[in-house]
Amino acid sequence: MTLWMELEQDGFEQLVWCRDRESDLTAFIAIHSTKRGPALGGCRLWPYPHEEAAVQDAMRLARSMTYKAAAAELSYGGGKAVVIGRVGDHGNAKRFEALGRFIDRLNGAYWTGVDVGTTAVDMDHVALHTPYVTDTTGSLGGTGDWTADMTAYGVYEGIQVSAQRTFGSRALAGRTIAVQGLGKVGWALCRYLHRAGAQLIVTDLSVSLVEQAVREFNALPVAPDRVYDAACEIFAPCALGGVIHEGTIDRLKCRIVAGSANNQLRDPSFALALKQQNIMYAPDYVINAGGVIATAAELDGEGTFRTRSRVKRIGRTLDAIYTESARSNGTTTQAADDFAELRM
Ligand code: NAD
Repeated sequence: MTLWMELEQDGFEQLVWCRDRESDLTAFIAIHSTKRGPALGGCRLWPYPHEEAAVQDAMRLARSMTYKAAAAELSYGGGKAVVIGRVGDHGNAKRFEALGRFIDRLNGAYWTGVDVGTTAVDMDHVALHTPYVTDTTGSLGGTGDWTADMTAYGVYEGIQVSAQRTFGSRALAGRTIAVQGLGKVGWALCRYLHRAGAQLIVTDLSVSLVEQAVREFNALPVAPDRVYDAACEIFAPCALGGVIHEGTIDRLKCRIVAGSANNQLRDPSFALALKQQNIMYAPDYVINAGGVIATAAELDGEGTFRTRSRVKRIGRTLDAIYTESARSNGTTTQAADDFAELRM
């Protein structure tokens, strides 16, 4: 399928090639949908091997932002910017300035922010040329781990709702939960779960993070490649995407998969495989929407208290999706897509 056919089939509105020879910027901005409002989606900086890989990533990420924002019932659409480059490269400041000029020409159809590889300082450079940027230095989104904390809070809510459905109680005291990835979100999630009395099993590529979690949360450590075999009731993938696949699915002992990672299923068909194994799957873009909800709340001028209560609503949304998937006897991912598409 050609790129143009893909853009048409997936309902994209706009794809912008951003080339600034002076700063040597090559970037793409994909706007999937502005039907519900301006497109939100951070800016990723990544050493893509070629332009096609960058475009594909921008499109995939922009589309899922539309679904995420719609499922969270935000008055925003989905977009994404990707810059081809490396973190720490000499000249990045000028490149982000140039990107700011491209974003400004879109007149607010797309708002950017921090994503993988970018920081508040990069957004400061973007902000020199456009107001359509979040997560700058000093803003709530650009401060500490606010966004990650809100993502973790949404996942925590989603885990409780999933536990209610599966075990008949939201209470997590005494439940065994395996957390894969102890980065910004995984760590914050462990804090919520530990406070709720859960017994944690943890893994990360960083040994020191694992050791710290053992000390702070009384967690049981497990090697990264053994986490799938862990004797747990809930598995929370909070590292990379694509972790549920033919090599891991049969090893899972849990009754629930619910975590923050984007695109947890290597292929959509694994949603059915999980269902057939009697494992409840919390669709990733629904349960991990806390970050984008926090961004939207900041744009809407809401404070931290209201933001938290908006993130908490992820639990209600997830519950509605579980009800629908039970009624239709379909997968939770199909129910989530239907839920989002209805709102798009
Ligand atoms: P992060 O980079 O801070 O942390 C990721 C952690 O995972 C790192 O500590 C890393 O060492 C670990 N890791 C990587 N591969 C691993 C493996 N194979 N086994 C065990 N650990 C491994 O990232 P983050 O911001 O915490 O995000 C975590 C996930 O949640 C990502 O998939 C991200 O896309 C998603 N997400 C994050 C946010 C947010 O607000 N930060 C919002 C929505 C979704």
